[in-house]
Amino acid sequence: MDLSTLTIKEARRALDVKEYSALDLTNAYLDAIAGKDKEIHAYLEVWADSAREEAKAADAVIAKGGSQPLTGIPLAIKDNMLIEGRRVSSGSKILENYVASYDATVIRKLKEQNVVFLGRTNMDEFALGSSTENSAYGPTKNPHDTSRVPGGTSGGSTAAVAAGMALGALGSDTGGSIRQPSALCGVVGIKPTYGAVSRFGLIAAASSLDQIGSIGKTVADTKVILDSIQGHDANDSTSLPDSFFANKKPVRKVLGVPRAFLGKGMEPDMLAAFENSLTALSQKGYTLVDIELPALDYALAVYYIINPAEVSTNLARLDGIRYGLSVPADTIAEVYSKTRAQGFGTETRRRILTGTFVLSAGYADAYYRKARAVRELIRADFAKAFESVDAIALPVSPIAPWKFGEKADPVAMYAADIFTVPVSLAGVPAISVPGGTVERDGKKLPVGFQLIAPHGGEETLFAIGKDIENSS
Ligand code: GLN
Repeated sequence: MDLSTLTIKEARRALDVKEYSALDLTNAYLDAIAGKDKEIHAYLEVWADSAREEAKAADAVIAKGGSQPLTGIPLAIKDNMLIEGRRVSSGSKILENYVASYDATVIRKLKEQNVVFLGRTNMDEFALGSSTENSAYGPTKNPHDTSRVPGGTSGGSTAAVAAGMALGALGSDTGGSIRQPSALCGVVGIKPTYGAVSRFGLIAAASSLDQIGSIGKTVADTKVILDSIQGHDANDSTSLPDSFFANKKPVRKVLGVPRAFLGKGMEPDMLAAFENSLTALSQKGYTLVDIELPALDYALAVYYIINPAEVSTNLARLDGIRYGLSVPADTIAEVYSKTRAQGFGTETRRRILTGTFVLSAGYADAYYRKARAVRELIRADFAKAFESVDAIALPVSPIAPWKFGEKADPVAMYAADIFTVPVSLAGVPAISVPGGTVERDGKKLPVGFQLIAPHGGEETLFAIGKDIENSS
Protein backbone atom coordinates (compact mmCIF):
# COMPACT_ATOMS: atom_id res chain seq x y z
CA MET A 1 0.00 0.00 0.00
CA ASP A 2 1.17 3.51 -0.84
CA LEU A 3 0.32 5.64 2.19
CA SER A 4 0.98 8.88 0.33
CA THR A 5 -2.03 8.30 -1.93
CA LEU A 6 -4.18 5.92 0.13
CA THR A 7 -7.68 7.21 0.95
CA ILE A 8 -10.22 6.08 3.53
CA LYS A 9 -12.48 4.98 0.72
CA GLU A 10 -9.77 2.76 -0.79
CA ALA A 11 -8.68 1.39 2.60
CA ARG A 12 -12.33 0.52 3.42
CA ARG A 13 -12.58 -1.52 0.22
CA ALA A 14 -9.25 -3.27 0.81
CA LEU A 15 -10.03 -4.07 4.46
CA ASP A 16 -13.45 -5.48 3.62
CA VAL A 17 -12.12 -7.77 0.87
CA LYS A 18 -9.23 -8.72 3.21
CA GLU A 19 -6.44 -7.52 0.92
CA TYR A 20 -4.76 -6.51 4.14
CA SER A 21 -5.82 -6.36 7.76
CA ALA A 22 -6.43 -3.35 9.97
CA LEU A 23 -3.36 -4.47 11.89
CA ASP A 24 -1.23 -4.38 8.69
CA LEU A 25 -2.60 -0.95 7.92
CA THR A 26 -1.98 0.32 11.44
CA ASN A 27 1.56 -1.05 11.45
CA ALA A 28 2.22 0.71 8.14
CA TYR A 29 1.11 4.01 9.68
CA LEU A 30 3.12 3.45 12.85
CA ASP A 31 6.18 2.78 10.66
CA ALA A 32 5.54 5.96 8.68
CA ILE A 33 5.29 7.94 11.91
CA ALA A 34 8.50 6.36 13.23
CA GLY A 35 10.24 7.27 9.98
CA LYS A 36 9.02 10.83 9.47
CA ASP A 37 7.68 12.40 12.59
CA LYS A 38 11.04 13.22 14.15
CA GLU A 39 11.30 15.84 11.46
CA ILE A 40 7.65 16.92 11.05
CA HIS A 41 6.57 16.76 14.72
CA ALA A 42 2.88 16.32 13.94
CA TYR A 43 2.30 14.13 17.00
CA LEU A 44 2.67 14.97 20.68
CA GLU A 45 2.09 11.34 21.60
CA VAL A 46 1.76 8.14 19.57
CA TRP A 47 -0.28 5.27 21.01
CA ALA A 48 1.41 2.36 19.21
CA ASP A 49 0.39 -0.44 21.59
CA SER A 50 -3.25 0.49 22.01
CA ALA A 51 -3.51 1.28 18.28
CA ARG A 52 -2.47 -2.32 17.51
CA GLU A 53 -5.01 -3.65 20.01
CA GLU A 54 -7.73 -1.47 18.47
CA ALA A 55 -6.72 -2.72 15.02
CA LYS A 56 -7.07 -6.34 16.16
CA ALA A 57 -10.51 -5.59 17.58
CA ALA A 58 -11.44 -3.96 14.26
CA ASP A 59 -10.20 -7.04 12.37
CA ALA A 60 -12.49 -9.22 14.46
CA VAL A 61 -15.45 -6.99 13.58
CA ILE A 62 -14.53 -7.01 9.89
CA ALA A 63 -14.15 -10.81 9.94
CA LYS A 64 -17.74 -11.06 11.15
CA GLY A 65 -18.91 -8.82 8.30
CA GLY A 66 -19.85 -6.05 10.70
CA SER A 67 -17.68 -3.24 9.43
CA GLN A 68 -18.87 0.36 9.49
CA PRO A 69 -17.38 3.18 7.36
CA LEU A 70 -14.47 3.84 9.73
CA THR A 71 -13.87 0.39 11.22
CA GLY A 72 -10.11 -0.21 11.37
CA ILE A 73 -9.25 3.20 9.90
CA PRO A 74 -6.21 4.83 11.59
CA LEU A 75 -6.98 8.44 12.56
CA ALA A 76 -5.14 11.20 14.40
CA ILE A 77 -6.85 13.32 17.06
CA LYS A 78 -6.07 16.94 17.88
CA ASP A 79 -4.74 17.35 21.41
CA ASN A 80 -7.86 19.15 22.64
CA MET A 81 -10.37 16.28 22.54
CA LEU A 82 -10.82 14.10 25.61
CA ILE A 83 -10.15 10.38 25.43
CA GLU A 84 -10.78 8.59 28.72
CA GLY A 85 -7.55 7.66 30.50
CA ARG A 86 -5.34 9.58 28.05
CA ARG A 87 -3.33 12.72 28.50
CA VAL A 88 -4.75 15.75 26.73
CA SER A 89 -2.96 19.09 26.95
CA SER A 90 -4.46 21.48 24.37
CA GLY A 91 -0.87 22.24 23.44
CA SER A 92 -0.27 23.81 26.86
CA LYS A 93 2.14 23.29 29.74
CA ILE A 94 -0.67 24.00 32.18
CA LEU A 95 -2.35 20.71 31.16
CA GLU A 96 0.85 18.76 30.50
CA ASN A 97 -0.04 15.93 32.87
CA TYR A 98 -3.80 16.20 32.71
CA VAL A 99 -5.57 12.89 32.08
CA ALA A 100 -9.10 12.88 30.67
CA SER A 101 -11.74 11.23 32.83
CA TYR A 102 -14.28 10.66 30.05
CA ASP A 103 -14.61 10.44 26.27
CA ALA A 104 -15.61 13.44 24.17
CA THR A 105 -18.80 12.68 22.24
CA VAL A 106 -16.86 12.57 18.95
CA ILE A 107 -14.47 10.01 20.45
CA ARG A 108 -17.33 7.87 21.78
CA LYS A 109 -18.82 7.84 18.28
CA LEU A 110 -15.51 6.84 16.68
CA LYS A 111 -14.99 4.11 19.28
CA GLU A 112 -18.42 2.70 18.40
CA GLN A 113 -17.06 2.18 14.87
CA ASN A 114 -13.78 0.58 16.06
CA VAL A 115 -11.56 3.35 14.74
CA VAL A 116 -7.81 3.03 15.38
CA PHE A 117 -6.48 6.02 17.34
CA LEU A 118 -2.87 6.65 16.30
CA GLY A 119 -2.11 9.49 18.69
CA ARG A 120 -2.72 13.10 19.63
CA THR A 121 -1.56 15.86 17.35
CA ASN A 122 0.23 19.13 17.96
CA MET A 123 -1.61 22.45 18.05
CA ASP A 124 -1.24 26.08 19.05
CA GLU A 125 -1.82 26.38 22.79
CA PHE A 126 -5.58 26.42 23.48
CA ALA A 127 -6.20 26.74 19.72
CA LEU A 128 -4.87 30.30 19.64
CA GLY A 129 -2.74 30.98 16.59
CA SER A 130 -2.43 30.36 12.87
CA SER A 131 0.87 28.49 12.53
CA THR A 132 1.23 25.89 15.33
CA GLU A 133 4.21 27.96 16.51
CA ASN A 134 2.30 28.72 19.73
CA SER A 135 2.42 25.10 20.92
CA ALA A 136 4.21 24.73 24.25
CA TYR A 137 5.87 21.63 22.75
CA GLY A 138 7.54 23.20 19.71
CA PRO A 139 6.14 23.76 16.23
CA THR A 140 5.01 21.28 13.59
CA LYS A 141 6.68 21.59 10.19
CA ASN A 142 4.96 21.83 6.84
CA PRO A 143 5.60 18.54 4.98
CA HIS A 144 5.85 20.47 1.68
CA ASP A 145 8.73 22.61 2.98
CA THR A 146 9.98 21.98 6.49
CA SER A 147 11.31 25.54 6.82
CA ARG A 148 7.69 26.74 6.70
CA VAL A 149 4.68 26.61 9.01
CA PRO A 150 1.88 24.07 8.46
CA GLY A 151 -0.74 26.63 9.47
CA GLY A 152 -2.74 26.37 12.65
CA THR A 153 -4.09 25.67 15.00
CA SER A 154 -4.76 22.09 13.82
CA GLY A 155 -1.33 22.01 12.12
CA GLY A 156 -0.41 18.68 13.69
CA SER A 157 -3.53 17.00 12.31
CA THR A 158 -3.18 18.43 8.80
CA ALA A 159 0.57 17.72 8.61
CA ALA A 160 -0.06 14.13 9.76
CA VAL A 161 -2.57 13.59 6.93
CA ALA A 162 -0.44 15.41 4.34
CA ALA A 163 2.67 13.38 5.22
CA GLY A 164 0.89 10.02 5.12
CA MET A 165 1.10 9.60 8.90
CA ALA A 166 -2.69 9.25 9.36
CA LEU A 167 -5.50 8.39 6.97
CA GLY A 168 -7.64 11.20 8.37
CA ALA A 169 -7.87 13.40 11.44
CA LEU A 170 -10.09 15.42 13.70
CA GLY A 171 -9.39 19.11 14.14
CA SER A 172 -11.21 22.02 15.70
CA ASP A 173 -11.92 25.37 14.11
CA THR A 174 -12.65 28.57 16.02
CA GLY A 175 -11.66 31.07 13.37
CA GLY A 176 -10.07 28.94 10.67
CA SER A 177 -8.05 26.30 12.50
CA ILE A 178 -9.21 23.42 10.31
CA ARG A 179 -9.51 25.27 7.00
CA GLN A 180 -6.27 27.25 7.08
CA PRO A 181 -3.82 24.45 8.01
CA SER A 182 -5.65 22.16 5.56
CA ALA A 183 -4.99 24.77 2.87
CA LEU A 184 -1.35 25.25 3.83
CA CYS A 185 -0.72 21.47 3.96
CA GLY A 186 -2.67 20.64 0.78
CA VAL A 187 -5.42 18.50 2.32
CA VAL A 188 -9.20 18.86 2.65
CA GLY A 189 -10.78 20.17 5.85
CA ILE A 190 -14.35 21.05 6.77
CA LYS A 191 -15.71 23.23 9.55
CA PRO A 192 -19.35 22.21 9.88
CA THR A 193 -22.33 24.38 10.82
CA TYR A 194 -22.04 25.60 14.41
CA GLY A 195 -23.86 23.02 16.52
CA ALA A 196 -23.65 20.16 14.01
CA VAL A 197 -20.89 18.35 15.93
CA SER A 198 -20.98 18.10 19.71
CA ARG A 199 -18.42 20.14 21.64
CA PHE A 200 -18.83 17.89 24.71
CA GLY A 201 -15.29 16.88 25.67
CA LEU A 202 -13.59 19.50 23.49
CA ILE A 203 -11.33 21.75 25.56
CA ALA A 204 -12.98 25.12 25.02
CA ALA A 205 -11.30 28.11 23.42
CA ALA A 206 -14.14 30.44 22.40
CA SER A 207 -17.39 28.58 22.92
CA SER A 208 -19.62 30.53 20.51
CA LEU A 209 -17.12 29.83 17.69
CA ASP A 210 -15.52 26.42 18.42
CA GLN A 211 -16.48 23.52 16.15
CA ILE A 212 -14.93 20.09 15.66
CA GLY A 213 -14.55 19.00 12.04
CA SER A 214 -12.74 16.55 9.82
CA ILE A 215 -9.56 16.48 7.79
CA GLY A 216 -8.73 14.06 4.97
CA LYS A 217 -6.95 13.71 1.65
CA THR A 218 -10.18 13.93 -0.31
CA VAL A 219 -13.61 15.51 -0.02
CA ALA A 220 -15.15 12.04 0.21
CA ASP A 221 -12.89 11.16 3.16
CA THR A 222 -13.78 14.30 5.11
CA LYS A 223 -17.45 13.52 4.48
CA VAL A 224 -17.17 9.99 5.81
CA ILE A 225 -15.56 11.26 9.02
CA LEU A 226 -18.02 14.12 9.44
CA ASP A 227 -21.00 11.81 8.90
CA SER A 228 -19.62 9.64 11.71
CA ILE A 229 -19.19 12.39 14.30
CA GLN A 230 -22.09 14.79 13.72
CA GLY A 231 -25.55 14.64 15.27
CA HIS A 232 -27.56 15.94 18.18
CA ASP A 233 -26.02 15.48 21.62
CA ALA A 234 -27.93 16.11 24.83
CA ASN A 235 -24.59 16.85 26.53
CA ASP A 236 -24.06 20.00 24.43
CA SER A 237 -26.70 22.68 24.90
CA THR A 238 -25.74 24.32 21.58
CA SER A 239 -26.11 21.05 19.67
CA LEU A 240 -28.59 21.21 16.78
CA PRO A 241 -31.77 19.07 16.93
CA ASP A 242 -32.10 15.74 15.09
CA SER A 243 -34.38 17.35 12.51
CA PHE A 244 -31.43 19.48 11.32
CA PHE A 245 -29.63 16.43 9.96
CA ALA A 246 -32.46 14.95 7.91
CA ASN A 247 -32.71 14.94 4.11
CA LYS A 248 -29.97 17.28 3.08
CA LYS A 249 -29.76 17.81 -0.68
CA PRO A 250 -26.83 19.55 -2.35
CA VAL A 251 -27.45 22.57 -4.55
CA ARG A 252 -24.71 23.49 -6.95
CA LYS A 253 -25.47 26.16 -9.49
CA VAL A 254 -24.78 29.68 -8.40
CA LEU A 255 -21.58 30.77 -6.67
CA GLY A 256 -21.20 34.18 -5.10
CA VAL A 257 -17.82 35.92 -5.16
CA PRO A 258 -17.35 38.92 -2.85
CA ARG A 259 -14.99 40.72 -5.25
CA ALA A 260 -14.58 43.86 -3.17
CA PHE A 261 -13.27 41.78 -0.27
CA LEU A 262 -10.60 39.92 -2.25
CA GLY A 263 -7.74 42.33 -2.80
CA LYS A 264 -7.06 42.65 0.93
CA GLY A 265 -3.39 41.91 1.42
CA MET A 266 -3.36 38.93 -0.92
CA GLU A 267 -0.15 37.76 -2.51
CA PRO A 268 -0.69 38.12 -6.29
CA ASP A 269 -0.07 34.46 -7.14
CA MET A 270 -2.42 33.38 -4.34
CA LEU A 271 -5.12 35.53 -5.92
CA ALA A 272 -4.28 34.11 -9.36
CA ALA A 273 -4.66 30.54 -8.03
CA PHE A 274 -8.07 31.48 -6.62
CA GLU A 275 -9.12 32.97 -9.97
CA ASN A 276 -8.01 29.78 -11.74
CA SER A 277 -10.27 27.69 -9.52
CA LEU A 278 -13.17 30.03 -10.26
CA THR A 279 -12.53 29.70 -13.99
CA ALA A 280 -12.48 25.90 -13.66
CA LEU A 281 -15.84 26.01 -11.88
CA SER A 282 -17.41 28.27 -14.46
CA GLN A 283 -16.21 25.86 -17.15
CA LYS A 284 -18.04 23.15 -15.26
CA GLY A 285 -21.27 25.10 -15.62
CA TYR A 286 -21.40 27.15 -12.45
CA THR A 287 -22.77 30.67 -12.64
CA LEU A 288 -20.51 33.12 -10.86
CA VAL A 289 -22.07 36.28 -9.51
CA ASP A 290 -20.51 39.22 -7.70
CA ILE A 291 -21.88 39.72 -4.22
CA GLU A 292 -21.32 42.27 -1.51
CA LEU A 293 -20.61 41.47 2.11
CA PRO A 294 -19.85 44.94 3.43
CA ALA A 295 -19.74 44.06 7.14
CA LEU A 296 -16.90 41.61 6.49
CA ASP A 297 -14.52 44.55 6.61
CA TYR A 298 -15.02 44.48 10.38
CA ALA A 299 -14.73 40.72 10.82
CA LEU A 300 -11.10 40.63 12.00
CA ALA A 301 -11.69 43.37 14.57
CA VAL A 302 -14.89 41.71 15.79
CA TYR A 303 -13.28 38.28 15.98
CA TYR A 304 -10.26 39.53 17.89
CA ILE A 305 -12.58 41.00 20.53
CA ILE A 306 -15.07 38.14 20.85
CA ASN A 307 -12.44 35.40 20.77
CA PRO A 308 -10.29 36.84 23.60
CA ALA A 309 -13.41 37.67 25.63
CA GLU A 310 -14.58 34.06 25.53
CA VAL A 311 -11.06 32.65 25.90
CA SER A 312 -10.43 34.73 29.03
CA THR A 313 -13.65 33.40 30.53
CA ASN A 314 -13.04 29.76 29.59
CA LEU A 315 -9.44 29.73 30.78
CA ALA A 316 -10.39 31.13 34.18
CA ARG A 317 -11.03 27.53 35.21
CA LEU A 318 -7.30 26.78 34.95
CA ASP A 319 -6.44 28.10 38.37
CA GLY A 320 -4.00 25.55 39.78
CA ILE A 321 -6.75 24.01 41.89
CA ARG A 322 -9.16 22.21 39.62
CA TYR A 323 -7.12 20.94 36.69
CA GLY A 324 -3.52 20.35 35.69
CA LEU A 325 -0.50 22.28 36.88
CA SER A 326 -0.51 23.55 40.45
CA VAL A 327 2.42 25.64 41.69
CA PRO A 328 2.59 25.53 45.50
CA ALA A 329 2.56 28.92 47.26
CA ASP A 330 1.63 30.46 50.61
CA THR A 331 -1.69 31.99 49.62
CA ILE A 332 -4.44 30.94 47.27
CA ALA A 333 -4.00 34.12 45.23
CA GLU A 334 -0.35 33.25 44.72
CA VAL A 335 -1.22 29.70 43.68
CA TYR A 336 -3.44 31.20 40.98
CA SER A 337 -0.94 33.73 39.73
CA LYS A 338 2.14 31.49 39.85
CA THR A 339 0.37 28.56 38.18
CA ARG A 340 -1.02 30.73 35.41
CA ALA A 341 2.26 32.60 34.90
CA GLN A 342 4.17 29.33 34.52
CA GLY A 343 1.49 27.39 32.72
CA PHE A 344 0.38 29.76 29.94
CA GLY A 345 2.40 30.86 26.92
CA THR A 346 2.69 34.39 25.53
CA GLU A 347 -0.21 34.36 23.07
CA THR A 348 -2.57 32.78 25.61
CA ARG A 349 -1.69 35.47 28.15
CA ARG A 350 -2.20 38.14 25.50
CA ARG A 351 -5.73 36.83 24.79
CA ILE A 352 -6.57 36.62 28.51
CA LEU A 353 -5.45 40.21 29.03
CA THR A 354 -7.29 41.48 25.95
CA GLY A 355 -10.40 39.53 26.83
CA THR A 356 -10.43 40.70 30.42
CA PHE A 357 -10.04 44.27 29.19
CA VAL A 358 -12.86 44.18 26.62
CA LEU A 359 -15.20 42.60 29.18
CA SER A 360 -14.32 44.98 32.02
CA ALA A 361 -17.07 47.23 33.35
CA GLY A 362 -15.63 50.39 31.86
CA TYR A 363 -15.03 48.99 28.38
CA ALA A 364 -17.61 46.28 27.72
CA ASP A 365 -19.96 48.73 25.96
CA ALA A 366 -17.23 50.17 23.78
CA TYR A 367 -15.72 46.83 22.74
CA TYR A 368 -17.46 43.58 23.64
CA ARG A 369 -21.07 44.71 23.15
CA LYS A 370 -20.23 46.62 20.01
CA ALA A 371 -18.45 43.55 18.60
CA ARG A 372 -21.54 41.44 19.36
CA ALA A 373 -23.71 43.94 17.49
CA VAL A 374 -21.42 43.97 14.44
CA ARG A 375 -21.30 40.17 14.52
CA GLU A 376 -25.06 40.27 13.85
CA LEU A 377 -24.42 42.47 10.79
CA ILE A 378 -21.92 39.90 9.50
CA ARG A 379 -24.46 37.12 10.01
CA ALA A 380 -27.08 39.24 8.21
CA ASP A 381 -24.69 39.87 5.27
CA PHE A 382 -24.27 36.12 4.77
CA ALA A 383 -27.99 35.44 5.16
CA LYS A 384 -28.80 38.07 2.54
CA ALA A 385 -26.17 36.74 0.11
CA PHE A 386 -27.54 33.20 0.46
CA GLU A 387 -30.93 34.42 -0.77
CA SER A 388 -29.42 34.59 -4.25
CA VAL A 389 -26.45 32.16 -4.27
CA ASP A 390 -26.00 28.50 -3.29
CA ALA A 391 -22.46 28.94 -1.98
CA ILE A 392 -19.82 31.63 -1.59
CA ALA A 393 -16.22 31.29 -2.78
CA LEU A 394 -13.30 32.86 -0.95
CA PRO A 395 -9.61 32.12 -0.65
CA VAL A 396 -8.62 30.40 2.62
CA SER A 397 -5.38 32.28 3.21
CA PRO A 398 -4.20 35.53 1.64
CA ILE A 399 -0.60 34.30 1.81
CA ALA A 400 1.40 31.13 1.20
CA PRO A 401 2.85 29.15 4.15
CA TRP A 402 5.41 31.44 5.78
CA LYS A 403 8.80 30.74 7.33
CA PHE A 404 9.08 30.04 11.03
CA GLY A 405 9.33 33.24 13.03
CA GLU A 406 8.35 35.47 10.11
CA LYS A 407 5.12 36.60 11.77
CA ALA A 408 6.42 37.43 15.22
CA ASP A 409 4.14 40.48 15.34
CA PRO A 410 0.82 39.07 16.60
CA VAL A 411 -1.28 41.46 14.53
CA ALA A 412 0.48 40.36 11.33
CA MET A 413 -0.48 36.78 12.23
CA TYR A 414 -4.10 37.80 12.96
CA ALA A 415 -4.32 39.46 9.55
CA ALA A 416 -3.74 36.08 7.89
CA ASP A 417 -7.17 35.01 9.25
CA ILE A 418 -9.10 37.57 7.21
CA PHE A 419 -10.92 35.04 5.01
CA THR A 420 -11.72 32.43 7.64
CA VAL A 421 -12.97 34.32 10.71
CA PRO A 422 -16.11 35.83 9.08
CA VAL A 423 -17.44 32.30 8.51
CA SER A 424 -16.94 31.36 12.16
CA LEU A 425 -18.68 34.52 13.35
CA ALA A 426 -21.68 33.65 11.17
CA GLY A 427 -21.69 29.98 12.27
CA VAL A 428 -22.06 28.72 8.70
CA PRO A 429 -20.18 25.70 7.30
CA ALA A 430 -17.11 25.98 5.06
CA ILE A 431 -14.67 23.62 3.40
CA SER A 432 -11.09 24.09 2.25
CA VAL A 433 -10.17 22.13 -0.87
CA PRO A 434 -6.75 22.17 -2.58
CA GLY A 435 -6.85 24.54 -5.56
CA GLY A 436 -3.49 24.87 -7.29
CA THR A 437 -0.02 25.69 -6.02
CA VAL A 438 2.35 28.64 -5.74
CA GLU A 439 6.13 28.56 -5.77
CA ARG A 440 8.43 29.87 -3.04
CA ASP A 441 12.22 29.30 -3.03
CA GLY A 442 11.80 26.74 -5.79
CA LYS A 443 9.26 24.67 -3.85
CA LYS A 444 5.66 24.10 -4.81
CA LEU A 445 3.32 25.00 -1.96
CA PRO A 446 -0.39 24.16 -1.81
CA VAL A 447 -3.20 26.72 -2.05
CA GLY A 448 -6.65 26.21 -0.55
CA PHE A 449 -9.98 27.22 -2.08
CA GLN A 450 -12.76 27.97 0.41
CA LEU A 451 -16.44 27.31 -0.18
CA ILE A 452 -19.02 28.58 2.25
CA ALA A 453 -22.64 27.39 2.44
CA PRO A 454 -25.70 28.45 4.42
CA HIS A 455 -26.46 26.73 7.75
CA GLY A 456 -26.84 23.01 7.12
CA GLY A 457 -25.32 23.25 3.63
CA GLU A 458 -22.57 20.66 4.16
CA GLU A 459 -23.79 18.45 1.29
CA THR A 460 -23.51 21.44 -1.04
CA LEU A 461 -19.92 21.94 0.08
CA PHE A 462 -19.09 18.29 -0.55
CA ALA A 463 -20.71 18.31 -3.99
CA ILE A 464 -19.00 21.49 -5.19
CA GLY A 465 -15.79 20.46 -3.44
CA LYS A 466 -15.69 17.29 -5.55
CA ASP A 467 -16.02 19.40 -8.70
CA ILE A 468 -13.01 21.46 -7.63
CA GLU A 469 -11.06 18.30 -6.85
CA ASN A 470 -11.82 16.87 -10.28
CA SER A 471 -10.81 20.03 -12.08
CA SER A 472 -7.29 20.30 -10.68
N1 GLN B 1 -6.17 32.00 14.10
C1 GLN B 1 -7.36 32.17 14.85
C2 GLN B 1 -7.03 32.50 16.28
O1 GLN B 1 -5.88 32.60 16.60
C3 GLN B 1 -8.22 30.95 14.76
C4 GLN B 1 -7.77 29.85 15.61
C5 GLN B 1 -8.74 28.69 15.64
O2 GLN B 1 -9.55 28.53 14.74
N2 GLN B 1 -8.70 27.94 16.73
O3 GLN B 1 -7.89 32.67 17.09
